[in-house]
Amino acid sequence: MDIITEIEIFLLALGGSICFIVALLALLIEYRSNKRKRAIFTVEMATALLLIADMLAYIYDGNPSIMGYWVVRICNFLNFFLVYWEILGLNLFIGTYTKGEQSMLIHTRRITNILSYFGMGLIVLSQFTGWFYYFDDTNRYYRGPIFFISYIVPMTILILLFITIAKMADDLPWLILVSSLVFTVLPLISSVVQAFAYGLSLFNLSIGISAIIVFALALVDQNVYLRITAATEKNTGLPNAYGYLAEVEKICERKEITQYDAFYFDIVHMGLINRNFGNQIGDYVIKTYAQYIRKSMQKDEVLGRLGGNFFVAVVKRNHTYELLKLLEKVEISLKEMGIDETIAVSSVAGIYQITDENIRPQQIMANVSMAVSIAKNVKKKPYVFLTKELIEEMNEQRQLQEILPRAMENRELMPYYQPKVNLDNNTLCGAEALCRWKQGEEFISPEYFIPIIEQTDLICRLEFYLLHRVCEDIKKWLGKGVDVPVISINFSRKNLGNPILAEEIYNVVKSYDIPLKLVQIEITETIDEYPLEYLKGVVEALQRYGLSAAIDDFGVGSSSIRVLRDVPFDVLKIDKTFVDSLTEKDCKFLRHIIEMAKDIGADVIAEGAENKEQIMVLKDLGCHMVQGYYFDLPLSKEEFETRLQNRIYT
Ligand code: C2E
Ligand code: CA
Ligand code: CA
Repeated sequence: MDIITEIEIFLLALGGSICFIVALLALLIEYRSNKRKRAIFTVEMATALLLIADMLAYIYDGNPSIMGYWVVRICNFLNFFLVYWEILGLNLFIGTYTKGEQSMLIHTRRITNILSYFGMGLIVLSQFTGWFYYFDDTNRYYRGPIFFISYIVPMTILILLFITIAKMADDLPWLILVSSLVFTVLPLISSVVQAFAYGLSLFNLSIGISAIIVFALALVDQNVYLRITAATEKNTGLPNAYGYLAEVEKICERKEITQYDAFYFDIVHMGLINRNFGNQIGDYVIKTYAQYIRKSMQKDEVLGRLGGNFFVAVVKRNHTYELLKLLEKVEISLKEMGIDETIAVSSVAGIYQITDENIRPQQIMANVSMAVSIAKNVKKKPYVFLTKELIEEMNEQRQLQEILPRAMENRELMPYYQPKVNLDNNTLCGAEALCRWKQGEEFISPEYFIPIIEQTDLICRLEFYLLHRVCEDIKKWLGKGVDVPVISINFSRKNLGNPILAEEIYNVVKSYDIPLKLVQIEITETIDEYPLEYLKGVVEALQRYGLSAAIDDFGVGSSSIRVLRDVPFDVLKIDKTFVDSLTEKDCKFLRHIIEMAKDIGADVIAEGAENKEQIMVLKDLGCHMVQGYYFDLPLSKEEFETRLQNRIYT
C-alpha cells in the first residue's frame, strides 16, 4: 500500500467517524422541526457509511479471499448508492427552509429526488453487469465501459441542487446558504479532478467535508435562529420586549440614551376592529400599522411590539413630535384583504424624556408604561408626557387613596355650609355643602385633594359619604325645629357613568326620612368625557325622584348653549370667573343667559361675589341669588346653625 492510499484510508476513517458522531448528535439535539432533524441525520449517517465503505473498499481492494470479494462488492455498491441517499437528505434539509408557495422550486426539488431514485436504481441494476465497474479474480476494482454514467447522474443532480439553493438565497440563512453551496460545489470540483486522477477518493472525501460543514453550520444557525426568534415578534417581525430591551441597552452602553424620548403606545379601538372585521384583518391592520411606523423610524431608533396592540419605541428627541403626529392617525386601506374600506388607526401614547444617562432599559419601559396608563385611564388624553410633576401627582393620588378612606371613617371629613342669599330681601335662601378635611387643627383645602381623587372612583365614595353627613345634619336641625333651606351637594362628573346614580342618592336621602326637596345636586357643566345625554339623563332621573339639580360652573364649558337647550336643570350656577371680571361683554352675555334661564323656568345664582359692586351689577343683570364671601364664607355645622337663626344680611 502506498503512502497516498494510507493517508486516504486514514482520512476516510476520520471523516466517517466524525459524520457518524454528528449523525448521533443530530438525533440528540432538539431541532426546530423534526423534518430538519431527520434530514441532518440522513445526510450525516449516509456520509459516515459512505466514507467507511470507501475505506473498507480501499483496504480490501485486490484481496483475493472470499471475504475480500464480499467486502469489495458490498462496499463499492454502498459507495455509489449512499451518495443518492445523502442527496435526498440534503434536498429534504433545504426543503425545510422553503417558505410559502414556491412551486418552481418544489418542481426542481422533485426532479432532484426522482433523479436520485433513478440513480439508485441504476446502481442496483449495474450490480448484475460490468457496466459501471467490475472485479477481476483477485478482486481488484476496474471501471466499466459506461462508468461515466455513474458520475454524470449525481453530478447533474448536484447542479440541480446548486440551482435550487441559489434561487432560495433570500430564504436561507446565510450560513446555511454557504454551507449548502459548499455541499454541491466541492463534490463537483472533486469529481472533475477524480476523472483524471483515479485512486484518490476525492469525491467521497469532499462530500464528507461538506456534510460536516452543513451540520456544524446548521447547529450555529439553530442558535442564531433561536436568538432571533426569541427577540422578534412573529406577526410584525419587530423586536419583542426582549429584543427591544436589548436594543435600548445598546444605546445605553453608547451613552447616548439621553438624546432619546421613549414611547409606549397602544392602538385605540383595536377590539372594535377585531370585532367588526375579524381577527385576521385585525392582524393585518397591526402588521401594516407596524410597517408604517417602522418606516418613519430613523437610524439608531428602536421600535418594538410587546404583543397585542402594545408598541414601544425610543426615538431621537427631535423626532418626537413627528411620531406623535403619526400616532394621532394612520390611514390603513383594507383593499389588499379584499375589503373596500380605509380605517383610521390612532394610538394613545405615554412618553418619557430620558434625562438620566445611567437609567436602565427596564426602568424606561416601566416609566412609559405608567405614562400610557395615566393617559388612558386618568387623563383620558391621546398622549401624556411623564414629568416629575405628574409622577408626584400620581404618588399623591396613591397616598390619598390609602389615607382618605380612613379619614372618612374617623369623620375627619365633613361638610361646611356656604349660604346662598336672595338679593331681593337679603335673606338666606339656601346653602352649598363644601367638603372640609380637618387634620388635627389644620384644614386641608378641597382644591388640593378633590382634583386629585376626581380622577379615581374614590371621589364617588367621598361624595356619598358627604351626602350622608349632610342628611344627618339636616335631620338633626329638623329635629330641633330649625327651618332648613335647600342644601346643594357637589357630585362630580365621574358619577355620570353610574346609570343608577339618582336612585342611589334618593335611597340615601330617603333613609334619613327628610324631605327630598331639601337636597339639591350640583353637577358641573364641563363633562367632556361623557355625551350630554348622560347629564340630561341624570338630571331628569333626579327630578323624577323628587330631588332638584343645579348646573355648576356654567359658562366655562364648550357646550353651554347645548346644556341650556337640552338639560332640564332647576338651577343655573354662573361660574365665578364671570363674577370676577364682569366686563361689558360679560354683562351682555350674562343678561341674555339669565333671561333665557328664567324663560325656561330655572333659577339663576352667581357664585364667588366678594364685593358690593359685583352684587349691584348682578342684581342689575337680573340675577337675584348670590353665593360668595361678601355674605359668608363656608361655615361649620355649628356656625351655620347659628346663621339659620338669623337669616337676614344687613
Ligand atoms: P365649587 O363647587 O365651585 O365651590 C365653590 C368654591 O368657591 C368653594 O371653594 C367656595 O369656598 C369658593 N367660594 C365661595 N365664595 C367665594 C368667594 O367669594 N371668593 C372666592 N375666592 N371663593 C369663593 P372650596 O370649598 O375650596 O371648594 C373648591 C372646589 O372643590 C369646589 O368648587 C368643588 O369643585 C370642589 N369641592 C368642594 N367640596 C366638594 C364636594 O363635596 N364634592 C365635590 N365633588 N367637589 C367638592
Ligand atoms: Ca359647587
Ligand atoms: Ca362652582
